[in-house]
Amino acid sequence: MNRFFSRIALLGVAALCVCPAIAWGWGSEGHETIGMLAERQIAGTRAAAEVRKLLRFGETLAVVSTWADRVKRGGFDAESDDFILRNPAHPSYHYTDIPFQVADYRAGMVGARPSDLVHLYERCIAILRGRSDAKSNPTAITPRVALLLVAHFAGDIEQPFHVGGGYIAEVEGAPRFVDPRGRPRGSYRSDIGANALMIGAGNLHYYWDILAVQRAMVRRSGAPGARAYADWIAANIKPQAAWDAKGDASSWPAQWAGSVLPLAREARAGLQLGPRVEVPNPSPPPIYRSEWTVALPPDYERRAIDAVDLQLARGGYRLARLLQDIWPEAR
Ligand SMILES: [Zn+2]
Repeated sequence: MNRFFSRIALLGVAALCVCPAIAWGWGSEGHETIGMLAERQIAGTRAAAEVRKLLRFGETLAVVSTWADRVKRGGFDAESDDFILRNPAHPSYHYTDIPFQVADYRAGMVGARPSDLVHLYERCIAILRGRSDAKSNPTAITPRVALLLVAHFAGDIEQPFHVGGGYIAEVEGAPRFVDPRGRPRGSYRSDIGANALMIGAGNLHYYWDILAVQRAMVRRSGAPGARAYADWIAANIKPQAAWDAKGDASSWPAQWAGSVLPLAREARAGLQLGPRVEVPNPSPPPIYRSEWTVALPPDYERRAIDAVDLQLARGGYRLARLLQDIWPEAR
């Protein structure tokens, strides 16, 4: 794709990104694809039977994979109301923001938080294994809600911008990505998981959450939709040995976060950052936030949608492996 054509394509990106209704739908279908892949993989196992006990009539892993996003709009039943009340920070459970330059996730590093994606994923695994108490589960997440969250986090942790954060400083008068470790606080600004990297009226985070997934679906199965895309992935992408985490499952979310960092680096490689602008923050505080316009390098789109195929395949595989580790076959 030449530069001129990629500009035109980006105008299309921008047009789609400003419509929240469209944004919501496509975001859901990435999670649903992962739920469908995991269901297929655990079919007939004890894990499938235990999952079924926690789900309600009509629910599947694909259906509940979007529960954690739906509650961001507010409660819709006693269970979601209770969760929101006890977990006021729940929108921040979906991501961590560790510098994309690092090799591994470590608690306490820049961008990690006690209520970040990795910590909440670990907490939910402990709850499902029956290894939690009031101290380790201070917000009283139930085993059923822990399953709903795990079914969702399996997708978030494969999205490079939900894990690897970008930090930007002025270097010789121009904005550049920098490694914040060792730099004084206040000398750099977060790109907010690429939410502050603007392409037209949209941003690069939404491009990856939604548009790249939609385009990957259309490329593989002719139309956007989780079912046909999950079928394509199951038939065409074989799990790789490197997808398996090592050791006890309590350490898997941190390992999985580390495994997406190379993609968080690649997804920012070659971006041309425009000058920083201060704009009203859509979710204050603070009242203002920094944004940068970015120009994407040629071939960015193809590499992004290639990556989506693999990330969703890996997310489905890892969710199934986790559920089978929590509920192994009886010996
Ligand atoms: Zn999420």
